[in-house]
Amino acid sequence: MNKTVLIRYASINLNWRYNSQLFINNSKKKAVMRIIHFSFFCVCVVFTPFLFAMGSQHIDFLSVEKTAMAHPNEAIKRLILSQDDKSLPDTQHAYNNTLLARLYLFQGDIDLSKDTFELAYQQLPKTDNWIHGYWLLYRSIFSLEQGQLPQGLRQIKLSQEAFAKENDYEMIVRAISIEGVLLLWQEEYPKSIEIIENAYIEAKTAKMSTTTMLYIYDSLAAYYSTMSLFEQGIQYAEIAAELATNNGDIVNGLPILYTLCITYSRAEQLDLASACYEKMITLSASVKAPRYLFWAPAGKARVALKQKDYTQALQLLYLAKNYVYKVIINPAHIIALNNNFARVFLALEQPEQALEYLHESDKLLANYERPLNNRYMRQTLALKAQSYEQLERFEESSKSLWFYIKLSDEAKETTQQKLEQEARSKFESTQQEIKLQLAEEKLKNQQIALDKLAKEGQLNTAYLVIGLLVIVSMSIFGFNQHRAYVKSQQRANTDPLTGACNRRYILDFIVQQLIDKERFFSVAILDIDHFKQVNDNHGHDIGDQALIGFTTLLQTQLENTACKFARFGGEEFIVVMPDFDLEAAHEFIANLCTCLKSLNLTDKNITLTSSAGVAQRQSGMALNTLLKVADTNLYKAKNTGRDKVCS
Ligand code: GH3
Ligand code: MG
Ligand code: MG
Repeated sequence: MNKTVLIRYASINLNWRYNSQLFINNSKKKAVMRIIHFSFFCVCVVFTPFLFAMGSQHIDFLSVEKTAMAHPNEAIKRLILSQDDKSLPDTQHAYNNTLLARLYLFQGDIDLSKDTFELAYQQLPKTDNWIHGYWLLYRSIFSLEQGQLPQGLRQIKLSQEAFAKENDYEMIVRAISIEGVLLLWQEEYPKSIEIIENAYIEAKTAKMSTTTMLYIYDSLAAYYSTMSLFEQGIQYAEIAAELATNNGDIVNGLPILYTLCITYSRAEQLDLASACYEKMITLSASVKAPRYLFWAPAGKARVALKQKDYTQALQLLYLAKNYVYKVIINPAHIIALNNNFARVFLALEQPEQALEYLHESDKLLANYERPLNNRYMRQTLALKAQSYEQLERFEESSKSLWFYIKLSDEAKETTQQKLEQEARSKFESTQQEIKLQLAEEKLKNQQIALDKLAKEGQLNTAYLVIGLLVIVSMSIFGFNQHRAYVKSQQRANTDPLTGACNRRYILDFIVQQLIDKERFFSVAILDIDHFKQVNDNHGHDIGDQALIGFTTLLQTQLENTACKFARFGGEEFIVVMPDFDLEAAHEFIANLCTCLKSLNLTDKNITLTSSAGVAQRQSGMALNTLLKVADTNLYKAKNTGRDKVCS
C-alpha cells in the first residue's frame, strides 16, 4: 500500500460521506466539509508510514494473485507445494489456500475447491481482517456456484466489513461489484444497479486499478445483459474483456468472455457470438480449464440452434455433456443443457429423445428449491408440451400447457408484486418523511398565526389561515414528489461516465421531431478516430478523460442553441440540429471537429480527431432511415482517410 493510494482512500472515504449527505448544498456546509477533508488528509499523511508497514503484505498478496491470474496452472503447482512449507505463517497459508481454491473453481474442480476453501478457513488467523475479507469475498462466489444465494450475500457483506476495518477501499469496491452480481441472481435488480453504479463512480473518482475496474465492468455487463439491454451489456463486456486481455488475466478473462459471448447470442448477433465462443474454446483448451470446456460448447450450441444448424448443435451439446458432471454443481446449468438437447431433438422432430432429456430435467427440478426454479420449470413444461404435441399425445400436451400457464401467471404476479412493493415502500418512506417535516412546520406556523390572531380576536380569519396553510403544504408535497420523479427521469436519461444524455433520451427527442412530418432538421454522428489506440497507448483512464472532455466541448458549443447531443455508445456521439439544412449542419459539425483538434482534453499531450456523417431529415423519413444515412456517411468519412465530415 503506498502513500498515494492511502491518500486516495482518504478522499474516497470522504466522497462516500459527500454522497450520503444529499442535502449538503449550500456553500457554508461545503466549506465545513472542505475543512474536514483537509484535516482528514493531514491525519492520513501523518499515519501513512504506520499503515504502510501493515498493508505491504496485502500488496504482496495482490501481486501473487496477479501472476496466478495470468498463469493458473503454474500457480496451482506452486501453491500445492507451499502447503507443506512449515516455515510459512498462518496468514500466508490461509491466503495461498484461498487462492488455490479459486483456481480449482476456475478449472472446474468443484470438490477440491470446496475442500481447499475449508482448509483455508481453518487457517484464518483471528487478528487479520484483510485475509478474512479476502476469503469471504471469494467464498461468496463459490456459494453462488452452489446455488446458495443467502449464504453468499451474507459472506459478501461480512467481506466488506472486514475490508472496511482495514480501510482497503479498493477491495471494498471489488466486493460491492460481486454483491451486485449476487443481487442480480436474487432478482433484486434496482438494488443491484444502484450499488454497482456507486462502486463505478467511486472507482472512477479514486482512479482505482484496472483489476478493480474489470470487476465493475463485468458486473455492469452482467446487469445490462440480464435486463436485456444488450447494447450496453456488450459495450461493458467488451471493455472488461479488453482490460482482462491487457492484464494478461485469464482467470477473470474467461468468465468475462463468456458474458460477452452469451450477450452477443441473446442480442441475436449470431456470427459475433459464434466467433466469440470459438475464441473461448481455444483459450480454455490452452489453459486446460475443463469448466470452460463445458461453458464454451454449451453456449455455442445455443447459437448453432438459433442458426438452425442442428448437426453442429448436437455435436457441441455432446461435447459439453462430457464435462458437465465433473465441473458443474449448480443444477440450473444442467437443466439448461438438457433443455437445449430437447430443443434440438424437437427441431429434428424426434420428440421421444427430447422427452428423455426433459425427464432428466424434471428429476433435477424435483430436488431444486430456488427462486429461479419457476423459470426452469416453465421452460421444461413448454418443451414437454411441444414434445407431446409432436407425439400426438394431446391430452398430456394440454396438461403440461395448463401447468405452464399457471406457473407463468404466478411468476408474473410475483414479479409484479415485487416491483409494486419496492415502488410502494420507496414512495411511502419518502412520503412519510416529507409529511413529518411538513406537519412540524405547519404546526409551528399555525401556532404563531393562531396566537397572533387570537390576540386580535379574529378567530374566523384564523380558520382561513389554517385552510391556506393546508393548501400550501399540499403543493410543497406535490413539488417534492415531482422533484423525486424528475431525478429518477434524469438518471434514466444520463450516461453515467460523461453525464451527457444517453441514447434512449436522444432517440426519444428525434422521435418527437419526427412527429411533425414537415419539420426539417439534421443529425450528425461523430466518432473519435483511432480511439482504441488512445486506450491501448495511454490507458483507459485517459480514454475516459477524452470522452468526458469531448462531452464538455459539445456542451459548450451547443449552449444557447436548440441543438441537442448524446453519447450514442462507446466513443460515438450524436448531434441533433433542429431547423438546420444539410449545408448548415455540415458546416456546423466541421467547425466542431476543428475545435476538437485544437484542444487538449486529457492529462497527456495528445491530439484527437473525429469523423462525422451528416444527414438531413427528408419529409416522411423514418428514424431508422435517417440514422442509416448518417451512419453511411460516417462510414464514408472513415473509409476515405478519417478526420473529415461527409454528408
Ligand atoms: P475508428 O477510427 O475506426 O473509429 O477506430 P476506433 O479505434 O476509434 O474504433 P473501434 O470501434 O475499433 O474502437 C472503439 C474503442 O472505444 C474500443 C473501446 O475499448 C473504446 N471504448 C468504448 N467505450 C469506452 C469507454 O467508456 N471508455 C474508454 N476508455 N474506452 C471506450
Ligand atoms: Mg472510433
Ligand atoms: Mg466507434
